Amino acid sequence: YHAKRERDRISTFDRKYDVNSVERLQLLADLRAALEDDQLHVVYQPQVDMRSGRTVAVEALVRWNHVGRGPIGPDHFVPLAENSGLILPLTTYVLDQALAQLAQWHADGYDLRMAVNLSARHLSDLSLPQQVSNALDAHAVPPSRLVLEVTETGILSDAVRADVVIRALRAIGVEVAIDDYGTGNASLSYLRRLEIDELKVDRSFVMNIHDDPHDLIIVNSTIELALALGVRVVAEGIEDERTVKVLAGFDSLIGQGYHFSGPVSAAQISERLISERSASGSSLRDC
Ligand code: C2E
Ligand code: MG
Ligand code: MG
Ligand code: MG
Repeated sequence: YHAKRERDRISTFDRKYDVNSVERLQLLADLRAALEDDQLHVVYQPQVDMRSGRTVAVEALVRWNHVGRGPIGPDHFVPLAENSGLILPLTTYVLDQALAQLAQWHADGYDLRMAVNLSARHLSDLSLPQQVSNALDAHAVPPSRLVLEVTETGILSDAVRADVVIRALRAIGVEVAIDDYGTGNASLSYLRRLEIDELKVDRSFVMNIHDDPHDLIIVNSTIELALALGVRVVAEGIEDERTVKVLAGFDSLIGQGYHFSGPVSAAQISERLISERSASGSSLRDC
């Protein structure tokens, strides 16, 4: 009797577990199909020079409009892709789309940078730099206009390999940014050790600087430190004018956030670039 109860309990547990994994497997199968049938797309969020207000770069962010479930956020399906073989084709897809779009903007006379997110997985993949180099060649985009965003967790998961991969990427002329800076560990030590080009201060610090004095101190001193080390800084999560004002003292700072624009289509970025260009044209005439 007890053995039977135990068996029932286990099989109930197994069934539940199966349901979960069937769901996961289904979503994974759907993601695989989505990659093959071109059901994913890429949106772009402006990164704005806080002094001039001009768009100097855009970050490519992947989107999935699931046929049955509607839009699924990257926070849900990127981890799924990371735990399967799908993260490489996903990154390849985003990189290819983003570089094709960047080549178009360059051809139109806009000298933007393009930021693309890498997954932690890629930092232990010694073939990544060659793949990135091939993608740049395919679209004839100068390496210096591509910024690859990596997270602190990505670096820490295999620090030695990540070091090799990051150095190789920078050797081909690509820039490397640390994304979500401040949310991981030992930030300072590898800011010193690693040669990186850009630091993105995580939005959890930036969002509250106008009413949390501690966050303000952390953000201000992080920006100062990075700039003093010759590292470009992007403040993430700028949601309102108040935040812009608090950060107005820095000579060279880039902002990203809903205050400027959320992630939008390439066509909407083009419109933004056109209106920035005509605004600067009229201000030149005013002089
Ligand atoms: P992330 O790289 O830190 O990207 C910034 C995220 O913050 C984006 O969310 C963006 O929409 C959101 N965001 C931007 N401005 C604001 C703001 O002012 N306030 C708030 N609350 N949020 C803001 P999204 O697009 O949902 O992406 C979430 C994360 O998913 C990304 O964080 C990145 O880690 C990952 N991800 C997105 N696209 C890709 C991709 O193509 N490849 C990889 N490996 N990961 C990606
Ligand atoms: Mg990012
Ligand atoms: Mg980020
Ligand atoms: Mg993030």
